[in-house]
Amino acid sequence: TTPQLLAGKRVVITAGPTVEAIDPVRYLSNHSTGKMGFALARACVAAGAEVILITGGKVALPTPLKVTRIDVLSAQDMLTAAQQCVDGTHSELQYISEDEHDHDHDHGHHHDHSHEHSHDHHGDCDCGDEQDDVTVSTDDNVRVADIFIATAAVADYRTEEAAPQKIKKTQDAMALKLVKNPDILATISLAHPELFVVGFAAETQDVEHYARGKLISKNLDLIACNDVSRADIGFASDDNAMQVFFSERYENDSVMLEKASKDKIAEQLASIIGETVWQ
Ligand code: C5P
Repeated sequence: TTPQLLAGKRVVITAGPTVEAIDPVRYLSNHSTGKMGFALARACVAAGAEVILITGGKVALPTPLKVTRIDVLSAQDMLTAAQQCVDGTHSELQYISEDEHDHDHDHGHHHDHSHEHSHDHHGDCDCGDEQDDVTVSTDDNVRVADIFIATAAVADYRTEEAAPQKIKKTQDAMALKLVKNPDILATISLAHPELFVVGFAAETQDVEHYARGKLISKNLDLIACNDVSRADIGFASDDNAMQVFFSERYENDSVMLEKASKDKIAEQLASIIGETVWQ
């Protein structure tokens, strides 16, 4: 049995590619499969965490048991979902803390209350004094996340504006104007100083140099790096090898995770996160 190093922790994970629309039938994306993020979600559940997995783009993997999955497409939508999940305000999370182990519960029920609530305008009822069901139920359930792990391969750029109609091939050449996407990891991390934040990096050279730079610029606790110049690991591969670098606030400096299945690497990462998050 796995040590419950993440017991009581709420973990939000981003995974997969993002999809940036060009027009209603075309998009920009990348080859990320989401395997690492899904493996981490399973490993965090096994270590006792409550896990929310935000998947971008077209991830064809089955949702791991006990994981709350939120599907989005674009980087902008992933950022919004991540902010709401970390703050505990995402609509999918409103029932989790109460009903986690109650499979018979109708998840919609609690909230439908407020919409069905009919105000009684007879007599001297002062509606202003009534409790607002929405606010009450939300406050009861809002719980900020403890850990944010960004494994998603977020598109660096998106089209400035997606065309409303399918673009016709009438021109011999065409230009797409791209604008930079928000950095989800940095945005979330800088807005939540208390959150334990884990980033990933795929580098082809100077792995340590770039990793340490991101550790600081994105205000991370840990960063896990793979060398994507190696053909035997990363992306669609089932195997991975990683080097984990720690923020200066921890005693550890770095740990090498030798080539293994993504599941094994994810288990080791979950343990490292579990050991470090309590420090
Ligand atoms: O800067 P770079 O893309 O190398 O950073 C990689 C890390 O930042 C990963 O953890 C990735 O999920 C995250 N990231 C993000 N939003 C972006 C770009 C990267 O969350 N727009």
